[in-house]
Amino acid sequence: MNNDTSPPTPPAKSSTLAGNYFVSNYPPFSFWSEEQRFEVDLALNSEPVPGAKLGVYHHIPFCRKRCHFCYFRVYTDKNAKDIQTYLDATITELKSLAERPLINGRKPHFVYFGGGTPSYLSAKQLAELTDKMKAVLPWDKAEEVAFECEPGTLNPGKLTAIKDIGVTRLSLGIENFDDHILEINGRAHRSGEVFTAYKRARAEKFAQINIDLIAGMLEETEANWQRNIEQTIALRPDSVTIYQMEVPYNTTIYKEMKAEGKLVAPVADWMTKRRWVKEAFAALESAGYSIVSGYTAVLDPKRTKFVYRDELWSGADLLGLGVASFSHAAGVHYQNLTEIEPYLAAVNAGEMPLKRAFRTSPEELMIREFILQMKLGRVQLGYFVEKFGVDIARRFASQLEHLSAEGLLQVTGGELRLTRDGLLCVDTLLHEFFLQQHRTSQIV
Ligand code: SF4
Repeated sequence: MNNDTSPPTPPAKSSTLAGNYFVSNYPPFSFWSEEQRFEVDLALNSEPVPGAKLGVYHHIPFCRKRCHFCYFRVYTDKNAKDIQTYLDATITELKSLAERPLINGRKPHFVYFGGGTPSYLSAKQLAELTDKMKAVLPWDKAEEVAFECEPGTLNPGKLTAIKDIGVTRLSLGIENFDDHILEINGRAHRSGEVFTAYKRARAEKFAQINIDLIAGMLEETEANWQRNIEQTIALRPDSVTIYQMEVPYNTTIYKEMKAEGKLVAPVADWMTKRRWVKEAFAALESAGYSIVSGYTAVLDPKRTKFVYRDELWSGADLLGLGVASFSHAAGVHYQNLTEIEPYLAAVNAGEMPLKRAFRTSPEELMIREFILQMKLGRVQLGYFVEKFGVDIARRFASQLEHLSAEGLLQVTGGELRLTRDGLLCVDTLLHEFFLQQHRTSQIV
């Protein structure tokens, strides 16, 4: 407990406070409700929107250890039998979805395994799971199969199995190269495992390897961050994704802040984190990379796509399988039950395991795609005229004028382009484009 009786000093403007900063969807999750769950049935019974791509997201909620900054639903205590029960339930879920009119006959354009830690599964579990998934919805037309990995789980047999199931984009959750920082942030892996895993992954010749880093983990320093950049460039991955550390409410770090009566998270402030990403982007550009979003640098933009992100941000349908997963079906957002036992009970009773849903209006769909595409740093205005009949420059004239005056973006030649400073704080700019009734809500 905090025994200091003096009033707390108000946090500085740039301090990292508790809460979510990253905008991953619109309208905000806090507007999705149990009352709207009936909308999911209507959406799944409708015909697909002509041209809408289909994706499948499979959520693996198991990890070796819980990271101190993690706010996902993860389990660190499940045995092989529990895991098999869960995987079987996701196949039951997929089978029932595949029979619905919205999906009937469509093949996935992209598949994503996220978590949690998909690479926590054994080679055998992975092969069996994906054989069953492919028997229900064949992947032979998938342009991308993406797979998240924790480096310490990647023994040679595992990587071969991941390659064999058809993964094209392997994403390594490295986060930091320093063993002390990895340890105090609660990561299960160490730097030795990173280098071994990367070498093995390269030997397997995956079409694309992405490395995830986090700027501003607990005890990050100027010197260590520079070493992170150097080590990343030395590995020369096809893609580098850098997140700025946030401290959501249900993390271990927040619980400790609360117990100590602290308002400010014990990590670098936003100005510092943005500068660190700016320096990383500049160094990556000098090494031949191109910046393709507020978070990502790629070596060869023509070859290195991220289909899951780009299709999702252009309105694709997404079937989310598993506990707590998010879906988007013909304009209806929904999320599955967030605890494993109720999820299993619902699926095994032949029910949809729904927690909450939201039917978007055409205007909300337009805003959703616009703000998500802003995160790419460039938005083609013609796309919104063609798809939604909306002239973005007129619809958002006051917001664009204001952000332009601040030096954060420009609108020229039919394109909205964020400046580098705008791109580095893009998530904080998006709320201005929300409908009035969604602006007051905490993004959770
Ligand atoms: S590996 Fe990822 S999902 Fe698992 S606890 Fe750490 S941050 Fe959370």
